[in-house]
Amino acid sequence: TADNDDIRARIRTIPDFPKPGIQFRDITTLLLDAEGLRLTVERMAEQVRGPIDLVAGIEARGFLFGAALAVKLGTGVLLIRKDGKLPGATIAEDYALEYGTDRIAIHADACTPGARVLLIDDLIATGGTARAAVRLLRKAGAEVVQASFVIDLPELGGADALRGDGVAVTSLTA
Ligand code: IMP
Repeated sequence: TADNDDIRARIRTIPDFPKPGIQFRDITTLLLDAEGLRLTVERMAEQVRGPIDLVAGIEARGFLFGAALAVKLGTGVLLIRKDGKLPGATIAEDYALEYGTDRIAIHADACTPGARVLLIDDLIATGGTARAAVRLLRKAGAEVVQASFVIDLPELGGADALRGDGVAVTSLTA
């Protein structure tokens, strides 16, 4: 369907996870459903605009959709991981959390300068994670042409902030 109701219906909301007051969007139910997974990957691929050299997936659920998209688009997939997980020389970027900071990293040699990169994650909320990923990819010389998510929570402003950073943003459902 045009507004992806069939995908939205396969995502469940778990109240008070990971803490009271949070309505957690749980995509494990979407992943378990063969048709849901297929539709999600198909429609994310349809939203891709322009040529892509590399897909970058954000740990951990971004790896799943990122790898599936990469196979469809005929590219490799670059892993954006929590700091301390990658074995080779890395570059890292910090971003603010509600309390404290977090750090993501990529292998320093993972990306050819000038590569046209599609950034993938399951969900964008405040945009803190995705914006840090864009800074990191740009540090590596990448051109981040688009960021694509299964779910955008637009009231949190992340997608608009990412657009303000000069990235085209697409998503399937709110
Ligand atoms: P942001 O940095 O505030 O945009 O949060 C996005 C990151 O947190 C992504 O990596 C998401 O996987 C994760 N995240 C935040 N809220 C949810 C949720 O409700 N369901 C699943 N993942 C979430």
